[in-house]
Amino acid sequence: MEPDKCCESGCIPCERDSDGQEPLDLCNYIGGEFVCPMGDEWMNVLEPATGHRFARVPLSGEADVGDAVRAARMAQPAWGALSHSERADWLDRIADALEARYEEIATLESRDTGKPISLARDVDAQRSVSNFRFFAGMLREHEQEVFEMSSATNYVVNKPVGVGALITPWNLPLYLLSWKVAPAIGMGNTVVCKPSELTPMTADLLMRVIDEVDLPAGVVNLVHGDGVGAGAPLVAHSDVDLVSFTGGTATGEKVAASAAPVFKKLSLELGGKNASIVFADCDMDATVAGVVRAGFLNQGQVCLCGSRILVEESIYDGFRDRFVDAVEAMRVGDPSDEATDLGALISRQHLEKVQGYVELAKEEGGSLLSGGVPCMPAEFEHGNWMAPTVIEGLSPNSRCSTEEIFGPVVTLHPFSSEEEAVAIANNTRYGLAGSVWTGNLEKGKRVSEAIDTGMVWVNTWLHRDLRVPFGGVKDSGVGREGGKWSLGFFSEAMNVCVKHD
Ligand code: NDP
Repeated sequence: MEPDKCCESGCIPCERDSDGQEPLDLCNYIGGEFVCPMGDEWMNVLEPATGHRFARVPLSGEADVGDAVRAARMAQPAWGALSHSERADWLDRIADALEARYEEIATLESRDTGKPISLARDVDAQRSVSNFRFFAGMLREHEQEVFEMSSATNYVVNKPVGVGALITPWNLPLYLLSWKVAPAIGMGNTVVCKPSELTPMTADLLMRVIDEVDLPAGVVNLVHGDGVGAGAPLVAHSDVDLVSFTGGTATGEKVAASAAPVFKKLSLELGGKNASIVFADCDMDATVAGVVRAGFLNQGQVCLCGSRILVEESIYDGFRDRFVDAVEAMRVGDPSDEATDLGALISRQHLEKVQGYVELAKEEGGSLLSGGVPCMPAEFEHGNWMAPTVIEGLSPNSRCSTEEIFGPVVTLHPFSSEEEAVAIANNTRYGLAGSVWTGNLEKGKRVSEAIDTGMVWVNTWLHRDLRVPFGGVKDSGVGREGGKWSLGFFSEAMNVCVKHD
């Protein structure tokens, strides 16, 4: 069924927006059908840049989740019985159909999240397509592992786990959802997705694509809704075998508590408070550009963002001045404008949280070098705007220097030795990522390996190879996804040992 037929059927009261446009009411996608939620609770989807409503999303409940899990369970045996290369062909069909909607993905993602259109094209749309293509390629290349003994041969069978719950946040909606869906179904699982209700538009688009390519019914299901009403019952459902969760650390704790007692397979990709470490021997121009990008991409709302910038004492003043100049040269503005560098923050509530940290920074003794509220044209007066903010003078132990802010706010800290830089970098409960900027690659590697995180870049940031392990340590998560780690997580490795005659 086409999504809009749901409205035509009269089961959803279609209101008219103030501009006379009919709001788009999203539907769940269960068992190959776009279906109305059982209840009648809805939430407005607002554009972060303007505050205008542009869709409504159902707040589904336990019964909707139950239907979706049932559909996934019914579809799993036939889907799991296909070969890797047959499933790879399906992933490629989805990639082709997504690629045909490249511009639609970018536009929807930019409107839904407030991010600049250039970023939505280059990162969100591009990666959503390449996630499906990449895992299709990996499946085709996947070779069975064999371990010979003098008296027997062992081989490894990667069986599907069963039904997966895939839960994703609002900052990179389709990018992260496709990062989970592709390897999960590629390995023969069937899935129920629960995207953030703040940014449901491209998850809906993915379901339309999946419907269009005629993926067997029930292989991919989607339930819209919030964490409490839909996310929690999905994780807790007794017929869900694995949970792949990306989101905040506090939510991750709840997800782990719900999944652990029944030993569900669990992957948690959580928050970060990453350091960019700048040594005096760095290439100054490239480093300023790289560290600005690491601090403020997507308005600082990327789990990998380098929000603590540690600078070697001898170049601190010079680096700071050039850094602040570069930050102030960034254009905050209309997300649909090609020239915009920073768009709006995701919601009013999140903006207030981030602004609260700026106030806290002042109380903690920090000095604001740049920031404030940007002057925006009237059409954006109800948007969630904040200028990129740079703070210095904070203790590395302060709350603003150790807690995840997840917005366009960075703190600057001088250091006097390699050991001190590493100690400051490790002085947080998080351990997701980091970057080191130096002309001495041996030092770059030495410092990288001393940092307690899942990944570190040297003289670059967010330079992604989809084959490498992705994930964090400490409170940044459990497990790794990416490349063969995703294929491993989304399957059960079984050993068969055959005694030689
Ligand atoms: P949240 O943890 O608030 O939400 C993530 C998802 O979980 C949402 O779909 C949410 O629904 C859902 N959820 C909330 N409560 C529950 C529950 N009890 N059970 C199951 N699901 C639930 O994160 P945000 O959406 O605010 O995203 C920002 C966070 O994500 C940051 O901390 C960021 O660092 C992290 N992140 C980590 C990444 C990584 O790879 N390590 C990548 C990207 C982001 P709802 O929207 O209703 O709350």
